[in-house]
Amino acid sequence: MAAQTVASTTDSAAGTSVDLGPAAALSCRECGHRVPLGSVFACEECFGPLEIAYDFSAYDTEELRKRIEAGPANIWRYAPLLPVPADVATKPNINPGWTKLVQADNLARELGVDAGKLFVKDDSGNPTHSFKDRVVAQAIEAARAFGFTTLSCSSTGNLAGAVGAAAARAGFRSCVFIPHDLEQGKVVMAAVYGGDLVGIEGNYDDVNRFCSELIGDPAGEGWGFVNVNLRPYYAEGSKTLAYEICEQLGWRLPDQIVVPIASGSQLTKIDKGLQELIKLGLVEDKPYRIFGAQAEGCSPVSTAYKAGHDVVRPQKPNTIAKSLAIGNPADGPYVLDIARRTGGAVEDVTDEQVVDAIKLLARTEGIFAETAGGVTVGVTRKLVESGALDPSLTTVVLNTGDGLKTLDAVAGTGMTATIRPSLDSFREAGLA
Ligand SMILES: [Zn+2]
Repeated sequence: MAAQTVASTTDSAAGTSVDLGPAAALSCRECGHRVPLGSVFACEECFGPLEIAYDFSAYDTEELRKRIEAGPANIWRYAPLLPVPADVATKPNINPGWTKLVQADNLARELGVDAGKLFVKDDSGNPTHSFKDRVVAQAIEAARAFGFTTLSCSSTGNLAGAVGAAAARAGFRSCVFIPHDLEQGKVVMAAVYGGDLVGIEGNYDDVNRFCSELIGDPAGEGWGFVNVNLRPYYAEGSKTLAYEICEQLGWRLPDQIVVPIASGSQLTKIDKGLQELIKLGLVEDKPYRIFGAQAEGCSPVSTAYKAGHDVVRPQKPNTIAKSLAIGNPADGPYVLDIARRTGGAVEDVTDEQVVDAIKLLARTEGIFAETAGGVTVGVTRKLVESGALDPSLTTVVLNTGDGLKTLDAVAGTGMTATIRPSLDSFREAGLA
């Protein structure tokens, strides 16, 4: 897949620069080669992934903190740290973020974590009920800057809905691609916004391959694929999870954080976000540990972690946690690096443990998580039991989506009893 430049920082006809705030250039994560901001995603020197390089040199720590705290209750409070124009909050966007950080004392008690130490970052509260709104909101601003008219993506479901909604709000056409056998709820949630939704006969990796072909074809010209040619911008949205967690903890780093792994991008960007806050002086420089969570039926990264490998061998996914079912995760090796560097780990749980964890979180904290949330809570339980996670330290567990999206996973859950509309019947059922 060849890197193609569709736009760059300088529009040669108009001579104007693309304004994406503090974003200074794209930089290769492998070799450091820098290119101007544009809709490219792979290094022309080594094909490594490109990511945003920033110029934060002008910021004074205390002024920046005040500016953030005075900002809107969404991700744009962190606009000074994101690849977006300074006036981003005035543009039509679905404005995700600033979701609840729930102190989960009931869950802590069940898991054997010290009181006041366990938190759930509940991203089901975003506009389309998953964390994907964060990354899509970023991609929308890059698409605007580069003059795209159609937004597209390959998706395991949540992203399709997020792109549909964001495109509708921001006035883009959308055409998104999903595996044809997704949960009905996710299909409806993606289709309702009125864009084109195309089911591909195959799994997510097949969908991804198809999109790579389309992007190099005249049929895909003028299209912004949020997780392909806009990926460097899109991926930065996950940093906002790190920023919010720290600000909501009173500008403190969590000691431990449990993150689900699909492509692995979210975990790497959370680490990037924490590192930025440390460098900017917004939080104290102290160690933190990042743990990755997978479902056993799609566990290429945890398998590599446990085997001590640096290379992630692709797997064919077979799990109810479909939003995490990426068999060939692009950022897998980087996840391994981060888990090992920070003293974390990568663990996996069975589908049965995922369902148990969904129910556990629901009955202890009143949070109905989608299967990915069952994965992180289930893995947290396993990590506490194995001693890998320290129960005396501040721990944040991510829930990245709403349980209403994956009702099938808990389909066996139902009524306690069915009774006649009489008090006698109620007493007979043993409920009085
Ligand atoms: Zn490179």
